[in-house]
Amino acid sequence: MSPDTTATPPHRRVVLAQPRGFCAGVHRAIAMTERALELHGPPVYVRKQIVHNHFVVGMLERKGARFVDSIAEVPQGSVCVFSAHGVSPAVRGAADEASLHVIDATCPLVSKVHQQAKRATRDGRLLLLIGHNDHEETEGTRGEVPNRTIVVETVEDVDRLDLSPDTPVAYLTQTTLSVDDTADVVDRIRTRFTDVEEPSSDTICYASQNRQNGIKSLARQCELILVVGSENSSNSQRMVDVARQAGVRGHLVPDVGHLREEWLHDVRTVGVSSGASAPEVLVDQVLARLAEHGFGQVDVDLTAVEDVVFSMPGDRSAPEPAPAGDAAAMRLLPSVRQPADIRRFTVAELTGLAAEIRRLLVEEVSRTGGHLGPSLGVVELTLGLHRVFDSPTDRILWDTGHQAYVHKILTGRWPEFGRMRQRGGLSGYPSQAESPHDIIENSHASTALSYAYGMSKADEVRGVTGRRVVVVVGDGSLTGGMAWEALNCIAGEGRRVVIVLNDNGRSYSPTVGGLARHLAGAEPNTFFESLGLSYIGPVDGHDVVAVQSALVQASAVDGPVVVHTLTRKGYGYDRAENDDVDRFHAVRPMDPVTGAPLSSSGRSWTSVFGDELVRIAEKRGDVVAITAAMQDPTGLSAFARRFPDRAVDVGIAEQNAVTAAAGMAMAGLRPVVAIYSTFLNRAFDQVLLDVALHSCPVVFVLDRAGVTGDDGPSHNGMWDMSLLNIVPGMRIAAPRDAATLRAALRTAVHTAEGPCAIRFPKGPVGEDLPAAFSYAGLDVLRPDPSDDVLLLPVGVMAGMCMDVADRLHAQGIGVTVVDPCWIRPVNPLLRAMAPRFRVVATVEDNLKIGGFGSVLAQDLREAGVTTPVTSFGIPQRFPAHGKRAEVLAECGLTAEVIAARLAGLIADPAGWLAVEASGPVG
Ligand code: SF4
Repeated sequence: MSPDTTATPPHRRVVLAQPRGFCAGVHRAIAMTERALELHGPPVYVRKQIVHNHFVVGMLERKGARFVDSIAEVPQGSVCVFSAHGVSPAVRGAADEASLHVIDATCPLVSKVHQQAKRATRDGRLLLLIGHNDHEETEGTRGEVPNRTIVVETVEDVDRLDLSPDTPVAYLTQTTLSVDDTADVVDRIRTRFTDVEEPSSDTICYASQNRQNGIKSLARQCELILVVGSENSSNSQRMVDVARQAGVRGHLVPDVGHLREEWLHDVRTVGVSSGASAPEVLVDQVLARLAEHGFGQVDVDLTAVEDVVFSMPGDRSAPEPAPAGDAAAMRLLPSVRQPADIRRFTVAELTGLAAEIRRLLVEEVSRTGGHLGPSLGVVELTLGLHRVFDSPTDRILWDTGHQAYVHKILTGRWPEFGRMRQRGGLSGYPSQAESPHDIIENSHASTALSYAYGMSKADEVRGVTGRRVVVVVGDGSLTGGMAWEALNCIAGEGRRVVIVLNDNGRSYSPTVGGLARHLAGAEPNTFFESLGLSYIGPVDGHDVVAVQSALVQASAVDGPVVVHTLTRKGYGYDRAENDDVDRFHAVRPMDPVTGAPLSSSGRSWTSVFGDELVRIAEKRGDVVAITAAMQDPTGLSAFARRFPDRAVDVGIAEQNAVTAAAGMAMAGLRPVVAIYSTFLNRAFDQVLLDVALHSCPVVFVLDRAGVTGDDGPSHNGMWDMSLLNIVPGMRIAAPRDAATLRAALRTAVHTAEGPCAIRFPKGPVGEDLPAAFSYAGLDVLRPDPSDDVLLLPVGVMAGMCMDVADRLHAQGIGVTVVDPCWIRPVNPLLRAMAPRFRVVATVEDNLKIGGFGSVLAQDLREAGVTTPVTSFGIPQRFPAHGKRAEVLAECGLTAEVIAARLAGLIADPAGWLAVEASGPVG
């Protein structure tokens, strides 16, 4: 249909009914089918259409659902979903006989009708079921009392019943009938029979009633009403009937192709609603087509608020996912399956939705742990972004990705939110595997503007127009050098990039430096405008209307534009907002009421380091501590309080931190750079050429080394030894406990010849593991008189290696466990020891390639030692998020696996070596 503008009356508008779209029963049925597909994998058989909508059916088919009419079509033992319309006991029996794994998605309201049917006929009464003979719901209800049910559709059907007036009868209604038509039939039953049992409660469902009332309201304002819905949906058909009964032309529109131009002649106001199983995307398409015909203005007519959510029942064989929020308290969120769903929310609804999102965030993140403060601060900002921009066609990039929780919630992932950061659950950062709305997976700061510049350039080269690139830069990301390098390009080339500056004044702690001062000053616009960027703001980032209008304004700018939003980290949750340390930037599982962690994690590696550094600095006035915006997480808070002039925070600028440390060392200080292992990756060149080339005595303290787990692939500290092993003059220590961490730190600070690095993991440090004896820098943890295995753990892997030794000892294999303490340079005594053993094994939570095992093997080879060396470490891939123990197990780093492999090697060295040569362990 092409627009005919010549016949277009002026001032055309659409009145859009609210509520419309998926009811709670349909939502639940679709979610259960999707969940079944996730848990069991395709195919999942669905008996009858899950709901009456071909679009939904097609969507589920593409995911692997197979729709059948009869249980006979389902292979024995398969997974079978019963649709929202419900089934009869006979169908249940057939499913049992076929040993099907049944997931019952019957709408709770339909189940209520089934129960009432059984109750009403207990004393032998006849059931008059007001409904349609051919409807699937009728089949299920009639099946409950097959010999006592008569279906009546009209007043005439009641008249035709061959029953005496004193026959005891009860009546019930199909859930999706017309309220008014049904009332006539009920009246006739009451006058025709003397003994009528009424239903104990209304059996026409809330969704049908609300939508029909919505149609009546539209009928008072519109000349034409379009009901988006399927032809086989009684709910949608009834809505058309209601429109016509109200004296207005009404048409069913199964999809936009059915919308006929002639319906619109001489029409000024069109009402649009949709059936309870019609997805919003169909409504969007109809609105777009209407807009082509001059119906550009869309007003919303809110006639009811549907405060109904049906909880998910248990899948009989699989554990239910942790509930996502208090579902009963969520009335708006369940209707948000995609960003388009929020575009027609009223301001009041948006405010309500923001409150629901915050409640979900607090409830769920307090259970799983994660980045709570940043997410609470961007709720309105994210709502505004998804209302103004069309993700994923418009690309929304988050810098850093820990601000993207609300984005995940609005892009259809809120039901899975309770499994954030858990094995198989949602990632704590954007993830391309999760959603097309997640464009980049960045958890390291200051990168998104470069991505944006690249995407914008690529669109130009490829001739792509109309796609916007939007970057949310926040939580201190603008303190990183890369961001400015990218801004230079974006501004220089006038790229059409929208830069949303989420200015909350903080990274983990308050943002430092001249930029933060400038943004807080009187004229932040001058700064950006002088760079060649348009500037809008500052805008209250918690005023969704203000945010939205700023973004609309920005979207019209034909060039780079900064939207400066002021937000509060932790907004809306007192405990977070008032937390001076980091506004609950990242929390462990905690009590949401008190904000207190649920378990005491014990003394951490980080605190042992922090306390020891203070002790050392008491004695040495040249010791300075440097952090890249992570003072508290890296254990430097006590140092900063005690020695404020010797504590340096450079912002999220690791390269600057490392080269500044080199400068300080050159000028006579002894800098200690406290940094997460994963973030040191960002400053490798500075370590190599600015520090090591000049033999600067800089101490790198690498927290969160090894497998960190929950935060996902980007946060594992599994590359540090592979990188640092190639740096000339670098010394690397891997302490196994608190005592060896203190000793390593003292040694490192007193080493004047060049740089040192000390690596330790995340979490509690545990008990000290004392050596049986020490010799020439080696700690012998478990001496053994045999010459079977020399087992060399790296740092915290020492405990596991003791377990490995016990297991092998039980099999008659002797294991000597020696902690090398300093990984690099390789202790020369190991060259002398290795030939005594049948095998040397190393165990490390670093990449196998380039790690301790590989360096030791090369060292022994060059020394002419022929004892086989086998190394256990992390294979060269990005492990998915999960608990640390889960990730280690996935890499083959468990005592059980290592012991079994070593036992195999002792039993068959030749065969083992062939296996080793064929690929990395794990
Ligand atoms: S229309 Fe009513 S009865 Fe049908 S699935 Fe939705 S809530 Fe349940």
